[in-house]
Amino acid sequence: MGELKKAGQIWKEFEDYLAPLLGMKPGERSVYSYLVRHTRLEGRRGVVVGMAALARGVGLGYAAARWHLFRLARKGCVQVRPYRHAQAIEVFLPEEVIREIRVRDWERLQRDTVRVSKNRVLRAAILRRERGRCFYCQQRLVEGKIWFDHVVPLARGGSPEEKNVVACCRTCNRWKGTGGAEAFLRELCKARGISKEQLQKRLAAIREILRGKLRLRRAA
Ligand SMILES: [Zn+2]
Repeated sequence: MGELKKAGQIWKEFEDYLAPLLGMKPGERSVYSYLVRHTRLEGRRGVVVGMAALARGVGLGYAAARWHLFRLARKGCVQVRPYRHAQAIEVFLPEEVIREIRVRDWERLQRDTVRVSKNRVLRAAILRRERGRCFYCQQRLVEGKIWFDHVVPLARGGSPEEKNVVACCRTCNRWKGTGGAEAFLRELCKARGISKEQLQKRLAAIREILRGKLRLRRAA
């Protein structure tokens, strides 16, 4: 009964708190709950599993499973290390994940969201340049869920001006954190969030942006 109670508690924390807090998508929820079931609820901290087996277990395609696992790792829900031809995945319970999200981290993540987002003209111009897509993952942006991110983080001496700003989705903004844009793009590519071709295009775009060749057309 004690075990059952504990499982119920974990589920409640996951559904009511962790998932909304981290904006977990259905796929991430599936992968996370599958992993918790097969590790922590069985009394072990982690599991060694091949990506194909994990995908089968969760009922997702290979690329989707890999992508969601990558996102879970970025959000601190799991830790993934390569292990022979598989990966060793350590799984954290909701309370453990939440404990690790310190106030300082939130502030740091927030700092990169720019005031430029209040300037409508600039917003429109940047969005037009990005063709309405997230600069990083290329997902189509939905009004009200658009974030503006510094290519070179302010924390690393990046410019607060618009020539250092791109439009992106909430997930990318949040999980890029104060890391560099290039490193984040490479990570995205590794997790198959974007293709190699897209990666090259994005890297070229970053170079253009940093050179100030924005071609921002101001809206009338
Ligand atoms: Zn994105």
